[in-house]
Amino acid sequence: MQLTQRLISANSDHGEFQSATANNKVLMSTSFTTDYTLTVPSAQCTANYVLTNYWGSVLIFGTALLVLPSYISTLMCFMSKNTLGFSILVCFLVFYLVMVIWSFALTHSTAPPSIPERYYFTKEENAFVQDYEKTTEVETRQSMHERLSDMARRRGIRTCARDGSVNYCITCKIIKPERTHHCSICQQCVLRMDHHCPFFGNCIHFENAKFFLLTLFYGCLGAIYVLVTGVACLSMRSSMPECSNRSFFWFGAMTLYCGLLAILVSLFFAFSMKNAMHNQTTLESMSDIVFIDGKPHSYDLGSVRSNLKQIFGPISVLWLVPVHTTPGDGTDFPLRDDLTSIEFT
Ligand SMILES: [Zn+2]
Ligand SMILES: [Zn+2]
Repeated sequence: MQLTQRLISANSDHGEFQSATANNKVLMSTSFTTDYTLTVPSAQCTANYVLTNYWGSVLIFGTALLVLPSYISTLMCFMSKNTLGFSILVCFLVFYLVMVIWSFALTHSTAPPSIPERYYFTKEENAFVQDYEKTTEVETRQSMHERLSDMARRRGIRTCARDGSVNYCITCKIIKPERTHHCSICQQCVLRMDHHCPFFGNCIHFENAKFFLLTLFYGCLGAIYVLVTGVACLSMRSSMPECSNRSFFWFGAMTLYCGLLAILVSLFFAFSMKNAMHNQTTLESMSDIVFIDGKPHSYDLGSVRSNLKQIFGPISVLWLVPVHTTPGDGTDFPLRDDLTSIEFT
């Protein structure tokens, strides 16, 4: 794709682009949605930092921890005449808790992978890009754009910005690999960035996308499980006079809480799985990917199974286990077979 009359300088750090028009003056600045940008909160105080970056975790896990002991003790009371039944119910509960905490911990702690060395500017390229950033003359920028395009082509990059300009990051000093975006909260470019999630205090990216989906999956199952067992036990309330009203209240509260949580997490999980089944990130679902040859290529490989393999890996039995099985290095992605032939000149 070629630049037309309007040349656009993508400012990757601040999520804006500026347009230079024929009179060589910068006239317009507008929002640019390719990069995910949020204001970095000042983190002077640890408590503020935790609440700002992990408010979702604090809310959900904090509430669960407050109410869970009452839930288990009341469950014990309800199931006092059926020790085996109680043991089975608690085993399932522990299983869901372990899987949720395991997946959550990996999603939170897996830092965005490093950008491979080959995408970094050389010394000369860096000086060139700095000049490009400062230049506002249309003709000069047009000729400089050709060299930028060449820098991207030599790195095998098949995509470009919606206006045809090259995706680069002046902060990280890289030509961005395909599906990479700069996160201003993580303050770095993130491979296959999905979105920055305050619930996990981390970006969802190439290496933790599987853990993110598993956290939602097991969180959803766990919430539905507590809801179902809660409703079943509450329906036996009249036959369990030994349970106190206080226990009954907290048990009901936990059941209601898990009901609401189940709805919330299910919706989020459904949205995320819909994207995964199309091999699409959240950012890509909001904006079409543009390929440099202008043809409608797609990372959607055409079948749900093939698309899920791009996140969960080729071994199906490991799909539900929170271990790293995602194939590739986060820079090279297969395109649909009948659309793969992009010519590089
Ligand atoms: Zn960057
Ligand atoms: Zn981030």
